[in-house]
Amino acid sequence: MLVFDLRALAAGAAVVDDVLSPADPVWEEHDRVPVEGVRVNGRLSAAGPGRFYFSGQIAGMTDDACRRCLTEVEIDVRERVQCLFAENGADDADDPDVYLFEPRSHEIDIRPAVREQWLLSVPPFTQCRDDCAGLCPTCGADLNAGPCGCEEPIDDRWSALRQHGSHGDEPSRP
Ligand SMILES: [Zn+2]
Ligand SMILES: [Zn+2]
Repeated sequence: MLVFDLRALAAGAAVVDDVLSPADPVWEEHDRVPVEGVRVNGRLSAAGPGRFYFSGQIAGMTDDACRRCLTEVEIDVRERVQCLFAENGADDADDPDVYLFEPRSHEIDIRPAVREQWLLSVPPFTQCRDDCAGLCPTCGADLNAGPCGCEEPIDDRWSALRQHGSHGDEPSRP
């Protein structure tokens, strides 16, 4: 369950233990989506009038291509999260870290917060491993499997520098 009755919450904290499905309508069109959903564990409790606090963990796998070698990799996106929910119109309604709900509502839906927190936790760049060698720019071979046999590209800037040095011009001194 990711939607909670406010009156029940006022009487006592709720244990949150559920999965936000990748098919849930809370996901938006261009979102990265979790492969099997986002597992949510934690506690949702009242934190003063019109305010509720969630503390727990979100975890969900996603997949992406390594930005260097293009191999598909699975990424385990898990994060400890703390979120504050407040009635729309509350003092801190302008705070972007606070999730708002309508004062007349009878329930609080934590799915938008789970979606946003999980998306924020997805690394912006995927790399299969820290020292991924990437693809050869000439033949496209995966250099993680070993050298491809192409010539090392010659960097012309170095030969230009060497020529400058051979003139032997000493920098002028004051
Ligand atoms: Zn890679
Ligand atoms: Zn090559």
